[in-house]
Amino acid sequence: MKSVSDILNKPQLDRDDIIRLLSIRERTEHEQLIKHAYSIKEQNIGRNVYLRGLIEFSNYCKKNCLYCGIRSGNTKVNRYMMTDDEILETVDFAIKNRFTGIVLQSGEQQSKEFTERISNLILNIKQATNPGFRFTLSLGEQSFETYKAWFEAGAQRYLLRIETSSEELYRKIHPDNKLHDFKKRLKCLEDIQKAGFQTGTGVMIGLPFQTIENLADDLLFLKKMNIDMVGMGPYLEHADTPLFERRNSLIPLNDRFNLSLRMIAILRFLMPNINIASTTALQSIVPMGREHGLKAGANVLMPNLTPGKYRGNYLLYDNKPCIDEEADDCIDCLSNRVQMIGEEIAYDDFGDSKHYKKRQQID
Ligand code: SAM
Ligand code: SF4
Repeated sequence: MKSVSDILNKPQLDRDDIIRLLSIRERTEHEQLIKHAYSIKEQNIGRNVYLRGLIEFSNYCKKNCLYCGIRSGNTKVNRYMMTDDEILETVDFAIKNRFTGIVLQSGEQQSKEFTERISNLILNIKQATNPGFRFTLSLGEQSFETYKAWFEAGAQRYLLRIETSSEELYRKIHPDNKLHDFKKRLKCLEDIQKAGFQTGTGVMIGLPFQTIENLADDLLFLKKMNIDMVGMGPYLEHADTPLFERRNSLIPLNDRFNLSLRMIAILRFLMPNINIASTTALQSIVPMGREHGLKAGANVLMPNLTPGKYRGNYLLYDNKPCIDEEADDCIDCLSNRVQMIGEEIAYDDFGDSKHYKKRQQID
């Protein structure tokens, strides 16, 4: 078996190397990998953390993903849609707290009204903010025309997780119908790139049926797709979802957490200049989980700015953190926590993906 030191000294990792690193069981080897990834991040991105304010503006969703707490089939969820005024107030809060951008996220909705509403929102927010204010959209699968319209309205970034790069696994964690089609999701990701966005994707880690080989292939998929940003984190159970039945087959939470850190670390090795988010799901397992993510090579945090009254209805998984808090509570503690690990929030930087900028120069 190859030693971790030998692998980390290689200029490139092959699939076997990735499998070996993902399979680490020894604490010292795990820490060696994490430290190595952090040094790659320091060299390429510095010790800067970029903030994006997350606004979960609606939990209406036409899809029924087997893992997600706000799936359409979950009748226990109270559905909500924030008004434009509420969204604008939240953006105002973000600006006052020196955020240089927001992420607008919701369940999947497709209609002419929805497309136009999002375009108008972007235009209105742009008028009320400085010209560089950044919009990331995370609004699921849409037509190429819709992606293009939102890009032209002024959104710069789009996040659409592939969830898993294995079509076979994808089929096991989604209903078997046209609405949940792996090839369609992949095509959407390509359309997002074609529309001009800084493109983000990601996977869930520790899913039922998932193997270490699947995860290695996920990392190679991200590299092959030449992705600019990644948000990936542990899969967490939600009691009112069909996948909850499989909870006894899952790896323990602590292992899922460490595996997620190794995924981040290996990705930083494979793609030194992309933006990698340290996700809230990490914090659900370990209170300082997102800080561990930063130490493993991530460089983006997305504090939740969703108004407190809506948070309890956007529960993708059980034990989601900060659901009783208003946004400002979270932000105050966050900047202290970032400083505690020797990093700085880059308040005056839009934090565009360096990988995207380089890609634009080449294209
Ligand atoms: N509806 C859009 C979509 O699916 O792309 C955006 C919102 S969706 C809630 C955002 C992400 O939440 C999904 O891509 C999925 O990876 C993640 N998610 C949903 N359920 C989860 C769970 N049980 N554990 C971890 N992540 C989950
Ligand atoms: Fe809807 Fe996204 Fe949840 Fe799937 S993951 S049910 S598309 S909100």
